Amino acid sequence: MTKLAQTLGLTETQNEILATVRRFVEKEIIPNAPEFEKSDTYPQAIVDHMKDMGLFGLMIPEEYGGLGESLLTYALCVEELARGWMSISGVLNTHFIVAYMLRQHGTEAQKQRFLPRMATGETRGAFSMSEPELGSDVAAIRTRATRTDDGNYTIDGQKMWLTNGGTSTLVAVLVRTDEGADKPHRNLTAFLVEKPVGYGEVAPGLTIPGKIDKLGYKGIDTTELIFDGYVANADDILGEAPGQGFFQMMDGIEVGRVNVSARACGVGIRAFELAVRYAQQRQTFGKPIAEHQAIAFQLAEMATKVEAAHLMMVNAARLKDSGERNDVAAGMAKYLASEFCSEVTEQSFRIHGGYGYSKEYEIERLMRDAPFLLIGEGTSEIQKNIISKRLLAEYRI
Ligand SMILES: Cc1cc2nc3c(=O)[nH]c(=O)nc-3n(C[C@H](O)[C@H](O)[C@H](O)COP(=O)(O)OP(=O)(O)OC[C@H]3O[C@@H](n4cnc5c(N)ncnc54)[C@H](O)[C@@H]3O)c2cc1C
Repeated sequence: MTKLAQTLGLTETQNEILATVRRFVEKEIIPNAPEFEKSDTYPQAIVDHMKDMGLFGLMIPEEYGGLGESLLTYALCVEELARGWMSISGVLNTHFIVAYMLRQHGTEAQKQRFLPRMATGETRGAFSMSEPELGSDVAAIRTRATRTDDGNYTIDGQKMWLTNGGTSTLVAVLVRTDEGADKPHRNLTAFLVEKPVGYGEVAPGLTIPGKIDKLGYKGIDTTELIFDGYVANADDILGEAPGQGFFQMMDGIEVGRVNVSARACGVGIRAFELAVRYAQQRQTFGKPIAEHQAIAFQLAEMATKVEAAHLMMVNAARLKDSGERNDVAAGMAKYLASEFCSEVTEQSFRIHGGYGYSKEYEIERLMRDAPFLLIGEGTSEIQKNIISKRLLAEYRI
């Protein structure tokens, strides 16, 4: 057999990109992650290197300065990066969603304004829907943009859980505009808010209070975002189309789900690799623990889960690349990959015995990182809602 999580049918260019990212992960990320993670320090040197590699422009069309690669290429790169350290893939994730939404829904002027700078990583995207009172129930958003007589908008309200909140310079924010539509979803609008890097009142009426202290997913900044009389122009609305924000953000989330499944695949692969190595080194009762059937069977289960998650993720990416809608495939991939990642990580942790509980061992970090994948881009329950609704429509009697 070959190693796990191989992908058939890749082009030479895709294989070259992946080989470069894999080398980068081995050389720069795996050895340095523990230091950044322990001190919860932003991995600036790694991010700078990713800029040089063109990773921030991977899916941005060539005409705007990017590499014009497919969702599959992107997802496979994310899988590699997350294998090294999940937080690094998080630096790319929100940027990639915002660039994708601009590409799909932005006006030509907005694409010209943002995409070339996003391709180099000079402008970095963040994506904001959640609020203190809501995450799954997006239509309940309270942050409000009120149109003023001069045609601008004043935004007031509080956003929560903004990944890359302090380090980004362009935030796609979903807010309530209530401009008369009868359906709640049609009263939501996506604004493109430019801001400087940093914390505190970064622009008049716009405050990033500071980093939220998290269980895992360290290094990367997750913040709140407070609007208090912040003034936005009408041409800061994505696609200059008020009332379309919900659909635009859901489109972004759909590719985001492929991305989260790729991250879960990467963390799962790493958890498996750590377990299969440790199981051959650790001896009990006169032989390596891998020779006890209970452990060997766990390795077999873990490998099967890693393989299944990878295949579902690749399928969801390829479906989107073919131009088809992939909401169900992405929901299934996200659900399965994140649940399997959690299981595989715990199995690896158990195989490590007491050492798995020590911060000296990498699996300890994976145990704290993996749970986020069950939540980000929609919890497992939300994925099951999406999947079951579509199933019942398709199989209606
Ligand atoms: C580290 C981190 C980073 C994040 N980054 C971002 C970001 O960059 N941008 C952003 O907008 N958000 C971000 N989020 C927020 C994330 O998307 C939400 O936490 C997630 O969508 C869940 O929402 P919630 O926390 O409000 O939970 P709730 O929606 O309150 O759900 C609580 C529980 O109820 C369940 N539940 C809810 N509704 C239903 C239902 N209809 N049926 C069955 N069960 C249900 C959920 O599955 C969950 O188990 C981040 C979160 C974390 C932890």
